[in-house]
Amino acid sequence: MSERQLKLANGHSIPYLLKVSARRRTIGLQIDEKGLTVHIPKRVPQHTVESLLLDKSDWITRKLAKWQDRPAAMEWQDGATLRYLGQEIRLSLRQDTKSRAADFDGSRLHLALPNPNDAQAVQRKVVQWLARQSRPDFTRRIELLAAKLGVPTPPLYLSSARTRWGSCNSRGEIRLNWRLIQAPPHIIHYVVAHELAHLKEMNHSPKFWAWVKKLCPDYEAARKELKEISAELHLV
Ligand SMILES: [Zn+2]
Repeated sequence: MSERQLKLANGHSIPYLLKVSARRRTIGLQIDEKGLTVHIPKRVPQHTVESLLLDKSDWITRKLAKWQDRPAAMEWQDGATLRYLGQEIRLSLRQDTKSRAADFDGSRLHLALPNPNDAQAVQRKVVQWLARQSRPDFTRRIELLAAKLGVPTPPLYLSSARTRWGSCNSRGEIRLNWRLIQAPPHIIHYVVAHELAHLKEMNHSPKFWAWVKKLCPDYEAARKELKEISAELHLV
């Protein structure tokens, strides 16, 4: 692994990490919060790597910019923006002697707690509220789509997994991440359709995707969109 710089024609340069792997057969580019990483097979000359990177420099620059535009960490304070079913809602905090049940008026989530400056306590209450909203929403969608698929409604479990939005196990239990309740409804619909389709096909074969398409004709766009908003949904 070594650190390199790619000099662009416009005078800018892009730092990147070069990783050589004996198992690779092709050059692979990875762009994430760490920047650009280039995976190459053994014995690829540096000029080959550089000319490939130069060829793709527009794409790389765009991708890197997108990562830099990513939202900063949540600030758990009065007036903060939250996401609920794809809409931006505001957090409204109030001091009260007792911690009270959250109250949502359609555009603001009102929380009353002894110390509104306690970011952790605020976060806990928001998470609790989101998770509580997610269950009836997900359940309704599962019931609808299970009926469409002609299968009995499977049991739902809420998950908090950092790496996946949903899963379906061999016992036919569906797990959905409560964080999805922040996403627009058509995205939730897609994830539910995806997991329910696993009741028919426990794999990601073309047959499986055909079932998904039946339940969610626009699944490809939704899938892409979910990837794009994933980081945002994980801020909470
Ligand atoms: Zn799957």
